[in-house]
Amino acid sequence: MYRLHLAAEKTLGSGNLRDAVALPEGVDLNEWIATKAIDLFNEVELVYSVIRQYCTESACPCMSAGSKFEYLWADGKEYKQPTKVTAPKYVELLFAWVQSQLDDEKVFPTAPGVPFPPDFRERVQAIFKRLFRVYAHIFYGHYERVKELEFEHHLNSCFKHFMYCVLEFDLRYRSQSVVALAGVAEVWQDYLGLLESAPLVTKSITAGVIIGAGDSAAQLLASRDKIDAEFDVARALRWALFGLVLQGPWNHAFYLLLDGALPPTPDPFTLTTLTKVGIDQGIQAPIFTIIILYFFAVVEGKGFGYATNQVKNDLGGILIKNWSVFLPATVINIGFCPPELRVLFLNVVFFGWVVYLSAFLNAKEGEAALTGTRTGAGGRDE
Ligand SMILES: [Zn+2]
Repeated sequence: MYRLHLAAEKTLGSGNLRDAVALPEGVDLNEWIATKAIDLFNEVELVYSVIRQYCTESACPCMSAGSKFEYLWADGKEYKQPTKVTAPKYVELLFAWVQSQLDDEKVFPTAPGVPFPPDFRERVQAIFKRLFRVYAHIFYGHYERVKELEFEHHLNSCFKHFMYCVLEFDLRYRSQSVVALAGVAEVWQDYLGLLESAPLVTKSITAGVIIGAGDSAAQLLASRDKIDAEFDVARALRWALFGLVLQGPWNHAFYLLLDGALPPTPDPFTLTTLTKVGIDQGIQAPIFTIIILYFFAVVEGKGFGYATNQVKNDLGGILIKNWSVFLPATVINIGFCPPELRVLFLNVVFFGWVVYLSAFLNAKEGEAALTGTRTGAGGRDE
Protein backbone atom coordinates (compact mmCIF):
# COMPACT_ATOMS: atom_id res chain seq x y z
CA MET A 1 0.00 0.00 0.00
CA TYR A 2 2.74 2.44 0.99
CA ARG A 3 4.62 1.81 -2.23
CA LEU A 4 1.48 2.65 -4.17
CA HIS A 5 1.16 5.96 -2.36
CA LEU A 6 4.69 6.83 -3.35
CA ALA A 7 3.99 5.95 -6.98
CA ALA A 8 0.84 8.06 -6.96
CA GLU A 9 2.61 11.00 -5.39
CA LYS A 10 5.40 10.88 -7.92
CA THR A 11 3.05 11.06 -10.90
CA LEU A 12 0.96 13.71 -9.17
CA GLY A 13 4.05 15.79 -8.65
CA SER A 14 4.94 15.58 -12.33
CA GLY A 15 1.63 17.27 -13.06
CA ASN A 16 0.14 14.55 -15.23
CA LEU A 17 -3.06 13.86 -13.34
CA ARG A 18 -4.45 11.38 -15.84
CA ASP A 19 -1.39 9.17 -15.40
CA ALA A 20 -1.66 9.53 -11.64
CA VAL A 21 -5.18 8.17 -11.79
CA ALA A 22 -4.84 5.30 -14.26
CA LEU A 23 -4.59 1.82 -12.81
CA PRO A 24 -0.91 0.74 -12.83
CA GLU A 25 -0.19 -2.61 -14.45
CA GLY A 26 -0.44 -5.63 -12.18
CA VAL A 27 -2.29 -3.77 -9.42
CA ASP A 28 -5.67 -4.95 -8.16
CA LEU A 29 -8.37 -2.43 -9.09
CA ASN A 30 -10.04 -2.40 -5.67
CA GLU A 31 -6.71 -1.97 -3.97
CA TRP A 32 -5.90 0.92 -6.28
CA ILE A 33 -9.28 2.53 -5.61
CA ALA A 34 -8.67 2.14 -1.87
CA THR A 35 -5.29 3.83 -2.25
CA LYS A 36 -6.82 6.67 -4.23
CA ALA A 37 -9.64 7.08 -1.72
CA ILE A 38 -7.07 7.62 1.04
CA ASP A 39 -5.11 10.07 -1.14
CA LEU A 40 -8.19 12.03 -2.08
CA PHE A 41 -9.36 12.17 1.52
CA ASN A 42 -5.96 13.50 2.62
CA GLU A 43 -6.11 16.14 -0.11
CA VAL A 44 -9.60 17.29 0.86
CA GLU A 45 -8.51 17.51 4.49
CA LEU A 46 -5.46 19.54 3.54
CA VAL A 47 -7.40 21.88 1.26
CA TYR A 48 -10.06 22.45 3.89
CA SER A 49 -7.47 23.07 6.61
CA VAL A 50 -6.23 26.07 4.62
CA ILE A 51 -9.59 27.86 4.82
CA ARG A 52 -10.72 26.24 8.09
CA GLN A 53 -10.25 29.42 10.16
CA TYR A 54 -12.57 31.32 7.77
CA CYS A 55 -15.22 28.60 7.68
CA THR A 56 -16.82 29.55 10.98
CA GLU A 57 -20.26 28.97 12.44
CA SER A 58 -21.19 32.59 11.82
CA ALA A 59 -19.71 32.78 8.30
CA CYS A 60 -21.19 29.45 7.21
CA PRO A 61 -24.31 28.70 9.26
CA CYS A 62 -25.18 25.85 6.89
CA MET A 63 -23.31 23.47 4.59
CA SER A 64 -24.08 25.00 1.24
CA ALA A 65 -22.79 25.25 -2.31
CA GLY A 66 -24.40 28.40 -3.64
CA SER A 67 -28.00 29.14 -2.83
CA LYS A 68 -29.38 26.03 -4.58
CA PHE A 69 -27.53 23.30 -2.72
CA GLU A 70 -27.82 22.94 1.01
CA TYR A 71 -26.56 19.74 2.52
CA LEU A 72 -28.06 18.14 5.62
CA TRP A 73 -26.12 15.66 7.71
CA ALA A 74 -27.31 12.15 8.47
CA ASP A 75 -25.25 9.14 9.45
CA GLY A 76 -27.90 6.74 10.71
CA LYS A 77 -26.40 6.83 14.19
CA GLU A 78 -26.19 10.09 16.08
CA TYR A 79 -28.02 11.94 13.29
CA LYS A 80 -30.85 9.65 12.26
CA GLN A 81 -32.78 12.31 10.35
CA PRO A 82 -31.13 14.68 7.85
CA THR A 83 -30.17 17.57 10.10
CA LYS A 84 -29.08 21.10 9.36
CA VAL A 85 -25.69 21.78 10.94
CA THR A 86 -23.15 24.56 10.39
CA ALA A 87 -20.59 24.02 7.65
CA PRO A 88 -17.62 23.53 10.04
CA LYS A 89 -19.68 21.03 12.05
CA TYR A 90 -20.75 19.26 8.86
CA VAL A 91 -17.18 18.95 7.63
CA GLU A 92 -16.04 17.74 11.05
CA LEU A 93 -18.74 15.03 11.05
CA LEU A 94 -17.99 14.17 7.44
CA PHE A 95 -14.24 13.79 7.99
CA ALA A 96 -14.79 11.68 11.12
CA TRP A 97 -17.22 9.48 9.19
CA VAL A 98 -14.82 9.00 6.26
CA GLN A 99 -11.96 8.24 8.66
CA SER A 100 -14.12 5.61 10.40
CA GLN A 101 -14.85 4.01 7.01
CA LEU A 102 -11.18 3.96 6.06
CA ASP A 103 -10.26 2.48 9.46
CA ASP A 104 -12.89 -0.23 9.16
CA GLU A 105 -11.07 -3.44 8.29
CA LYS A 106 -14.28 -4.88 6.91
CA VAL A 107 -14.49 -2.08 4.31
CA PHE A 108 -10.83 -1.34 3.67
CA PRO A 109 -8.97 -4.54 4.55
CA THR A 110 -5.23 -4.09 5.04
CA ALA A 111 -4.21 -7.63 5.93
CA PRO A 112 -2.93 -9.56 2.90
CA GLY A 113 -5.40 -11.98 1.36
CA VAL A 114 -8.47 -10.44 3.00
CA PRO A 115 -11.02 -9.72 0.26
CA PHE A 116 -12.80 -6.40 -0.24
CA PRO A 117 -16.50 -6.45 0.66
CA PRO A 118 -18.97 -7.01 -2.20
CA ASP A 119 -20.40 -3.51 -1.76
CA PHE A 120 -16.95 -1.90 -1.76
CA ARG A 121 -17.65 0.31 -4.83
CA GLU A 122 -20.91 1.61 -3.40
CA ARG A 123 -19.18 2.46 -0.16
CA VAL A 124 -16.42 4.34 -1.95
CA GLN A 125 -19.05 6.10 -4.04
CA ALA A 126 -20.74 7.25 -0.86
CA ILE A 127 -17.42 8.57 0.46
CA PHE A 128 -16.66 10.42 -2.77
CA LYS A 129 -20.16 11.84 -2.94
CA ARG A 130 -19.69 13.38 0.49
CA LEU A 131 -16.13 14.56 -0.10
CA PHE A 132 -17.36 16.33 -3.23
CA ARG A 133 -19.54 18.51 -1.02
CA VAL A 134 -16.49 19.87 0.75
CA TYR A 135 -15.06 20.97 -2.60
CA ALA A 136 -18.41 22.41 -3.61
CA HIS A 137 -18.57 24.38 -0.37
CA ILE A 138 -15.03 25.71 -0.77
CA PHE A 139 -15.59 26.70 -4.40
CA TYR A 140 -18.89 28.45 -3.69
CA GLY A 141 -18.19 29.84 -0.25
CA HIS A 142 -14.49 30.42 0.10
CA TYR A 143 -12.99 30.80 -3.35
CA GLU A 144 -12.24 34.51 -2.88
CA ARG A 145 -10.26 33.66 0.26
CA VAL A 146 -8.49 30.83 -1.56
CA LYS A 147 -7.42 33.32 -4.21
CA GLU A 148 -6.24 35.80 -1.57
CA LEU A 149 -4.13 33.03 -0.05
CA GLU A 150 -2.87 32.22 -3.57
CA PHE A 151 -3.99 28.68 -3.04
CA GLU A 152 -6.28 28.36 -6.05
CA HIS A 153 -3.74 26.51 -8.18
CA HIS A 154 -3.34 23.81 -5.57
CA LEU A 155 -7.09 23.65 -4.92
CA ASN A 156 -7.82 23.26 -8.62
CA SER A 157 -5.28 20.52 -9.08
CA CYS A 158 -6.61 18.61 -6.04
CA PHE A 159 -10.16 18.97 -7.37
CA LYS A 160 -9.08 17.81 -10.83
CA HIS A 161 -7.36 14.81 -9.28
CA PHE A 162 -10.58 14.08 -7.41
CA MET A 163 -12.78 14.34 -10.51
CA TYR A 164 -10.37 12.30 -12.65
CA CYS A 165 -10.55 9.51 -10.07
CA VAL A 166 -14.33 9.66 -9.98
CA LEU A 167 -14.49 9.48 -13.76
CA GLU A 168 -11.72 6.93 -14.19
CA PHE A 169 -13.24 4.42 -11.81
CA ASP A 170 -16.78 5.23 -12.84
CA LEU A 171 -17.63 5.95 -9.25
CA ARG A 172 -20.15 8.52 -10.25
CA TYR A 173 -23.58 8.61 -8.82
CA ARG A 174 -25.29 8.78 -12.15
CA SER A 175 -28.40 10.40 -10.77
CA GLN A 176 -26.39 12.92 -8.80
CA SER A 177 -25.72 16.45 -9.82
CA VAL A 178 -22.00 15.82 -9.23
CA VAL A 179 -21.05 15.00 -12.78
CA ALA A 180 -23.50 17.43 -14.31
CA LEU A 181 -22.15 20.22 -12.16
CA ALA A 182 -18.54 19.38 -13.00
CA GLY A 183 -19.37 19.00 -16.70
CA VAL A 184 -21.26 22.27 -16.88
CA ALA A 185 -18.52 24.03 -14.95
CA GLU A 186 -15.90 22.73 -17.37
CA VAL A 187 -17.83 23.68 -20.50
CA TRP A 188 -18.56 27.08 -19.00
CA GLN A 189 -14.88 27.61 -18.14
CA ASP A 190 -13.95 26.70 -21.71
CA TYR A 191 -16.57 29.11 -23.03
CA LEU A 192 -15.29 31.96 -20.85
CA GLY A 193 -11.78 31.16 -22.07
CA LEU A 194 -12.94 31.43 -25.69
CA LEU A 195 -14.73 34.69 -24.95
CA GLU A 196 -11.43 36.06 -23.69
CA SER A 197 -9.20 34.74 -26.47
CA ALA A 198 -11.55 35.25 -29.43
CA PRO A 199 -14.47 37.44 -28.32
CA LEU A 200 -15.86 38.44 -31.71
CA VAL A 201 -15.78 34.98 -33.27
CA THR A 202 -17.16 33.33 -30.12
CA LYS A 203 -19.99 35.82 -29.78
CA SER A 204 -20.86 35.60 -33.50
CA ILE A 205 -20.99 31.81 -33.52
CA THR A 206 -23.03 31.79 -30.32
CA ALA A 207 -25.45 34.28 -31.86
CA GLY A 208 -25.71 32.19 -35.04
CA VAL A 209 -26.49 29.01 -33.14
CA ILE A 210 -28.97 30.57 -30.71
CA ILE A 211 -30.82 32.60 -33.32
CA GLY A 212 -30.94 29.68 -35.76
CA ALA A 213 -32.44 27.65 -32.94
CA GLY A 214 -34.88 30.51 -32.23
CA ASP A 215 -36.27 30.41 -35.76
CA SER A 216 -36.41 26.62 -35.68
CA ALA A 217 -38.48 26.87 -32.51
CA ALA A 218 -40.78 29.41 -34.18
CA GLN A 219 -41.26 27.07 -37.14
CA LEU A 220 -42.01 24.10 -34.92
CA LEU A 221 -44.51 26.15 -32.93
CA ALA A 222 -46.25 27.36 -36.10
CA SER A 223 -46.34 23.89 -37.63
CA ARG A 224 -48.35 22.52 -34.72
CA ASP A 225 -51.62 23.77 -36.23
CA LYS A 226 -50.81 22.81 -39.81
CA ILE A 227 -50.96 19.37 -41.33
CA ASP A 228 -48.74 19.90 -44.35
CA ALA A 229 -46.18 22.11 -42.65
CA GLU A 230 -42.62 21.48 -43.73
CA PHE A 231 -39.55 22.59 -41.88
CA ASP A 232 -37.90 25.38 -43.88
CA VAL A 233 -34.19 24.70 -43.50
CA ALA A 234 -33.19 27.66 -45.66
CA ARG A 235 -35.22 29.97 -43.44
CA ALA A 236 -33.54 28.69 -40.25
CA LEU A 237 -30.15 29.06 -41.94
CA ARG A 238 -30.97 32.66 -42.94
CA TRP A 239 -31.65 33.45 -39.28
CA ALA A 240 -28.46 31.68 -38.21
CA LEU A 241 -26.55 33.69 -40.82
CA PHE A 242 -28.14 36.84 -39.48
CA GLY A 243 -26.87 35.94 -35.97
CA LEU A 244 -23.42 35.10 -37.27
CA VAL A 245 -22.72 38.14 -39.45
CA LEU A 246 -25.01 40.78 -37.97
CA GLN A 247 -26.41 40.23 -34.49
CA GLY A 248 -23.16 38.93 -32.94
CA PRO A 249 -20.74 41.49 -34.41
CA TRP A 250 -23.24 44.38 -34.10
CA ASN A 251 -23.82 43.82 -30.40
CA HIS A 252 -20.15 43.09 -29.73
CA ALA A 253 -19.19 46.43 -31.28
CA PHE A 254 -22.12 48.33 -29.77
CA TYR A 255 -21.44 47.20 -26.20
CA LEU A 256 -17.71 47.81 -26.58
CA LEU A 257 -18.53 51.39 -27.58
CA LEU A 258 -21.19 51.81 -24.91
CA ASP A 259 -19.16 50.31 -22.05
CA GLY A 260 -16.12 52.24 -23.28
CA ALA A 261 -17.95 55.57 -23.24
CA LEU A 262 -19.86 54.88 -20.02
CA PRO A 263 -18.04 52.26 -17.89
CA PRO A 264 -20.25 49.94 -15.80
CA THR A 265 -20.95 51.14 -12.27
CA PRO A 266 -20.66 48.82 -9.24
CA ASP A 267 -24.15 49.81 -8.09
CA PRO A 268 -26.61 48.88 -10.85
CA PHE A 269 -29.18 51.57 -9.95
CA THR A 270 -27.43 54.65 -11.29
CA LEU A 271 -28.01 57.42 -13.77
CA THR A 272 -25.31 55.80 -15.90
CA THR A 273 -27.36 52.61 -16.22
CA LEU A 274 -30.45 54.64 -17.08
CA THR A 275 -28.55 56.63 -19.72
CA LYS A 276 -27.16 53.46 -21.24
CA VAL A 277 -30.55 51.77 -21.35
CA GLY A 278 -31.89 54.93 -23.00
CA ILE A 279 -29.18 54.95 -25.66
CA ASP A 280 -29.55 51.20 -26.18
CA GLN A 281 -33.31 51.10 -26.55
CA GLY A 282 -33.97 54.63 -27.83
CA ILE A 283 -31.30 54.77 -30.52
CA GLN A 284 -29.71 51.35 -31.06
CA ALA A 285 -32.93 49.30 -31.09
CA PRO A 286 -34.78 51.23 -33.86
CA ILE A 287 -31.64 51.37 -36.03
CA PHE A 288 -30.98 47.67 -35.59
CA THR A 289 -34.62 46.72 -36.21
CA ILE A 290 -34.50 48.62 -39.52
CA ILE A 291 -31.26 46.79 -40.37
CA ILE A 292 -32.98 43.47 -39.58
CA LEU A 293 -35.86 44.26 -41.95
CA TYR A 294 -33.50 45.24 -44.78
CA PHE A 295 -31.27 42.24 -44.13
CA PHE A 296 -34.14 39.77 -44.53
CA ALA A 297 -35.64 41.61 -47.50
CA VAL A 298 -32.28 41.27 -49.25
CA VAL A 299 -31.43 37.66 -48.33
CA GLU A 300 -34.95 36.57 -49.19
CA GLY A 301 -34.63 38.32 -52.54
CA LYS A 302 -37.54 40.74 -51.98
CA GLY A 303 -35.48 43.88 -52.49
CA PHE A 304 -35.08 47.21 -50.72
CA GLY A 305 -38.54 48.47 -51.64
CA TYR A 306 -40.17 45.67 -49.67
CA ALA A 307 -38.17 46.59 -46.57
CA THR A 308 -38.90 50.29 -47.02
CA ASN A 309 -42.62 49.47 -46.98
CA GLN A 310 -42.17 47.35 -43.85
CA VAL A 311 -40.31 50.16 -42.10
CA LYS A 312 -43.17 52.57 -42.98
CA ASN A 313 -45.99 50.24 -41.97
CA ASP A 314 -44.72 47.80 -39.36
CA LEU A 315 -41.78 49.40 -37.57
CA GLY A 316 -43.94 51.02 -34.90
CA GLY A 317 -45.66 47.81 -33.93
CA ILE A 318 -42.45 45.82 -33.93
CA LEU A 319 -40.70 48.43 -31.80
CA ILE A 320 -43.46 48.49 -29.19
CA LYS A 321 -43.19 44.71 -28.89
CA ASN A 322 -39.39 45.06 -28.90
CA TRP A 323 -39.43 47.50 -26.02
CA SER A 324 -41.77 45.38 -23.93
CA VAL A 325 -39.19 42.59 -24.11
CA PHE A 326 -35.91 44.46 -24.33
CA LEU A 327 -36.42 47.38 -21.95
CA PRO A 328 -36.47 45.10 -18.89
CA ALA A 329 -33.89 42.78 -20.46
CA THR A 330 -31.55 45.70 -21.17
CA VAL A 331 -31.83 46.99 -17.61
CA ILE A 332 -30.77 43.57 -16.33
CA ASN A 333 -28.07 43.28 -18.98
CA ILE A 334 -26.45 46.65 -18.40
CA GLY A 335 -27.04 46.80 -14.66
CA PHE A 336 -26.16 43.29 -13.60
CA CYS A 337 -24.37 41.38 -16.37
CA PRO A 338 -20.54 41.27 -16.60
CA PRO A 339 -19.56 43.04 -19.87
CA GLU A 340 -18.08 39.94 -21.51
CA LEU A 341 -21.38 38.09 -21.03
CA ARG A 342 -23.66 40.85 -22.34
CA VAL A 343 -23.92 39.45 -25.86
CA LEU A 344 -24.62 35.94 -24.55
CA PHE A 345 -27.36 37.22 -22.26
CA LEU A 346 -28.83 39.21 -25.10
CA ASN A 347 -28.75 36.16 -27.35
CA VAL A 348 -30.76 34.17 -24.84
CA VAL A 349 -33.41 36.89 -24.71
CA PHE A 350 -33.11 37.22 -28.46
CA PHE A 351 -33.98 33.54 -28.81
CA GLY A 352 -37.45 34.37 -27.49
CA TRP A 353 -37.60 37.52 -29.58
CA VAL A 354 -36.71 35.63 -32.77
CA VAL A 355 -39.51 33.16 -32.06
CA TYR A 356 -41.88 36.16 -32.16
CA LEU A 357 -40.22 38.18 -34.93
CA SER A 358 -39.73 35.23 -37.23
CA ALA A 359 -43.35 34.14 -36.77
CA PHE A 360 -44.45 37.76 -37.31
CA LEU A 361 -42.47 38.35 -40.50
CA ASN A 362 -43.59 35.04 -41.96
CA ALA A 363 -47.21 35.56 -40.96
CA LYS A 364 -47.14 38.97 -42.71
CA GLU A 365 -45.82 37.26 -45.79
CA GLY A 366 -48.62 34.69 -45.73
CA GLU A 367 -51.20 37.40 -45.19
CA ALA A 368 -49.84 39.48 -48.06
CA ALA A 369 -49.91 36.47 -50.33
CA LEU A 370 -53.53 35.78 -49.42
CA THR A 371 -54.91 39.26 -49.95
CA GLY A 372 -52.47 40.28 -52.65
CA THR A 373 -51.99 43.64 -50.97
CA ARG A 374 -49.83 44.92 -48.23
CA THR A 375 -51.87 46.66 -45.58
CA GLY A 376 -50.39 48.59 -42.74
CA ALA A 377 -51.45 46.32 -39.95
CA GLY A 378 -48.84 47.82 -37.68
CA GLY A 379 -48.03 44.64 -35.89
CA ARG A 380 -50.10 41.68 -35.01
CA ASP A 381 -50.19 42.31 -31.33
CA GLU A 382 -52.90 40.62 -29.37
ZN1 LIG B 1 -17.50 27.59 5.06
